[in-house]
Amino acid sequence: MSGCLFCGMASGDVPAERIAANERAFAIRDINPRAPVHALIIPTIHIADAREIEAEHAATLAAMFALAGETARREGVLESGYRLAFNVGDDAGMTVSHLHLHLIGGRLLGPEG
Ligand SMILES: [Zn+2]
Repeated sequence: MSGCLFCGMASGDVPAERIAANERAFAIRDINPRAPVHALIIPTIHIADAREIEAEHAATLAAMFALAGETARREGVLESGYRLAFNVGDDAGMTVSHLHLHLIGGRLLGPEG
């Protein structure tokens, strides 16, 4: 989608350091990390947010969760544990309207942490 930051990263028009990637998603570090490990798992296709997920996105979502595991391994939190979260809309603080899965870890997380 034109003007979308994460679509730009997916196409390579916007440079981004990738932690890992697969055929349907890529992982980068959050620019404002809330924990020692804070990565974003981003699908290469444009989906605005979790409200827009349809059955046709099943393979993309499976690839995102597979990549989350790989990212956790590379970031060193696979065994210690981590949180996976989707923010949806303004009240959740979603700042880029392109679906992305937060992977947060590296410290003890509170219930909302
Ligand atoms: Zn996009």
